Amino acid sequence: MIFVDAHCHLGSRQYDGDRTDVINRMLDKDVRNVIMICCSRHDLQASAVLREQYPGFKLACSIHPQDLEDDSSEERLRELDRIVETYHPDMIGETGLDYYSHPHTKEQQRHFFVSQLEMARRYHLPVNIHSRKASADTLAILKEHPCRGIIHSYSGSLEMARLYIKEGYYISFGASVLFPGSKKPRQVIADIPLDRLLIETDSPYQSPVLGHRHEPEDVIRIYEAISQIRNITMEQLAEAVFDNFNRLFGEEK
Ligand SMILES: [Zn+2]
Repeated sequence: MIFVDAHCHLGSRQYDGDRTDVINRMLDKDVRNVIMICCSRHDLQASAVLREQYPGFKLACSIHPQDLEDDSSEERLRELDRIVETYHPDMIGETGLDYYSHPHTKEQQRHFFVSQLEMARRYHLPVNIHSRKASADTLAILKEHPCRGIIHSYSGSLEMARLYIKEGYYISFGASVLFPGSKKPRQVIADIPLDRLLIETDSPYQSPVLGHRHEPEDVIRIYEAISQIRNITMEQLAEAVFDNFNRLFGEEK
């Protein structure tokens, strides 16, 4: 069995002290395919090195919607374009809209989101989408700028998930499914097509345990929860998610 973590920040400063140990722990558990999200130079440099070492590690880079407060100049988009030319990432992301944490930069967020979707199309890359309290605008923009990719850390309705799927997106679920009160994601997980489902930690963020740094190896627990919700074996789930990951990156056998 091979496990996938479809969204993590392995290049994060939080792993600077023990990144090799973190990777060895995940490889021990057969978490072999990951998407490393890089929204800073630091994370990008650390992750680019890892991609050279591990064949299942994919590189994604972007300007995060929460990161436009201090600088939302066009120069940032030109810099991202240079990064794409230099590093040849496998994906653009995470990009999108966060009206929950940054309602005051909505307009800049929409501009940067659209620009990054256009960039993804120009380079024929999939996108990793962050959307919080912004599903109507996110969907409208994705419809206007067709791409393919992943809706990360999904917590919306089944109806909205179906609309994203119709636009060609995979729906990725994180540790929120581990919380007993998480009725909505459970219903979505139970009902969406298995060939559109992905699983992620968003580590080191979104830890289900207070005070514990989240790691990619923790994705196994999310697999366990989802296999129970879907009423399938871990093997069946792992195979489906692995196929989805490979299909997204055009590596289907
Ligand atoms: Zn993230």
